[in-house]
Amino acid sequence: SATSAATPSSSLVTEVDQLLQRLGVPRTAYTGGDLPVRSPITGEAIGAVREVSAADASAAIARAQAAFQAWRNVPAPRRGELVRLLGEELRAAKDDLGLLVTIEAGKIPSEGLGEVQEMIDICDFAVGLSRQLYGLTIATERPGHRMMETWHPLGVCGVISAFNFPVAVWSWNAALALVCGDSVVWKPSEKTPLTALATHAIAQRALARFGDAPEGLLELLIGQRGIGEVLVDDARVAVLSATGSTAMGRAVGPRLAARFARAILELGGNNAAIVAPTADLDLALRGIAFAAMGTAGQRCTTLRRLFVHDSIYDSLVPQLRKVYSNVQVGDPRTAGTLVGPLIDRGAYDGMQKALDQARALDAKVHGGERVPGLGGSDAYYVRPALVELQKHEGPALHETFAPILYVVRYSTLDEAIAWNNAVGAGLSSSIFTLNVREAEQFMSAAGSDCGIANVNIGPSGAEIGGAFGGEKETGGGREAGSDSWKAYMRRATNTINYSTALPLAQGVKFDV
Ligand code: NAD
Repeated sequence: SATSAATPSSSLVTEVDQLLQRLGVPRTAYTGGDLPVRSPITGEAIGAVREVSAADASAAIARAQAAFQAWRNVPAPRRGELVRLLGEELRAAKDDLGLLVTIEAGKIPSEGLGEVQEMIDICDFAVGLSRQLYGLTIATERPGHRMMETWHPLGVCGVISAFNFPVAVWSWNAALALVCGDSVVWKPSEKTPLTALATHAIAQRALARFGDAPEGLLELLIGQRGIGEVLVDDARVAVLSATGSTAMGRAVGPRLAARFARAILELGGNNAAIVAPTADLDLALRGIAFAAMGTAGQRCTTLRRLFVHDSIYDSLVPQLRKVYSNVQVGDPRTAGTLVGPLIDRGAYDGMQKALDQARALDAKVHGGERVPGLGGSDAYYVRPALVELQKHEGPALHETFAPILYVVRYSTLDEAIAWNNAVGAGLSSSIFTLNVREAEQFMSAAGSDCGIANVNIGPSGAEIGGAFGGEKETGGGREAGSDSWKAYMRRATNTINYSTALPLAQGVKFDV
């Protein structure tokens, strides 16, 4: 089976240094600190960042709060101009930032660049949105009155992000929050601080070109979970958008609820696809391969469960096994590589544990082993695992953040839809079918219970125009397109009386 070499070398450290210098990050920000940064490609250290203190974090929130009070008075289309400039700076930095995503998160280059493209796309979307923050005019029952709703800036928007989309998640939130009149305080994943520092430097250039944005509009807090907790508990943070595991959401959600803060929770997924009897099998095969193995199975929307109809199981699954054993695993920078490294040892251990659980259920496990000779001893490359389960059970019911695809036979669509919905997470789902009845049933009120339900494409690879997020243990938040912007604003309902009378609603009389 195909592999490609990745040898640890200090040339990677040099390359990272050159990239960060070109991106405008001061060397003191990524050398000599107390938090080591490693590249999953070789496992070696590529930087050492400084964790901010809780007091620093609080001071940053205070600056952001002051910035909000000025920014909310700037007309929204003018706020859009800042986001337009941010999009321009991201375009100029796309190649460097994309490569840094590859080095720090292990994504193949087209995915690293794709992540930066997504940042550019959301900036374009937000610029248009800055002239479209529409409220409604509402029919009133009282003569000589007018009723309407107005959307106002909300306050400081906190952003906590995960390692696997180290920069795009910030931009989904920041681009919208900025045009909505909010300031932004970002706590990136402790596993990917370098891409965050680079993004912050890029944003500083947009701010400089904009000219008169208030200081503190975009703050960055390098740190671990404890710094995230400062954002969660600070009463000045009006809305907190937190992306990461369901375990993180379980900790964060109740704390936000306790202080009545707005929460946008984007948590784990356990996404399924159904391959129905009429499916275009060639298309399904390609869709499954990308959704299940892309980003080495480390997307929140990664395909983890595959329900294949009895009638096609024996033709589809052997083909899938062939694709799994031939896919090139290796250094993501090597041409032809489709599956890069796992983020770290914890991800590798979690994967092996899930595979052991599957073996204990007499599943047929294909692949899943560590690929030798790639990277250093602290780099974790695995062959993606295809696991044929006899029943929908065991480790298939929980998200393991690694490339494992559980395959189960089904006989009726009702059964397959029930399995689709029988897990805690509710992020993404899909069906491969050419039967319009099946497709519509899957997307109907009685179909998939996920935030995303696709037909004839896999569950991963969303574009920014739609609202992104999921139900149940995925947290219920929505980000990016459609009307997701409303989460970053507060709504005021206004009733205006332009008559000389004072009629009361519902016919109430109160004559004094
Ligand atoms: P993680 O939960 O370990 O960490 C995510 C972030 O939360 C990090 O910045 C971390 O420091 C912070 N954090 C953790 N516990 C916290 C707490 N108690 N209070 C405040 N902050 C806390 O997740 P990860 O391993 O970086 O990312 C993988 C997970 O993220 C997967 O479960 C994946 O499905 C999920 N994810 C979801 C989406 C989505 O949009 N739904 C997108 C990307 C990733």
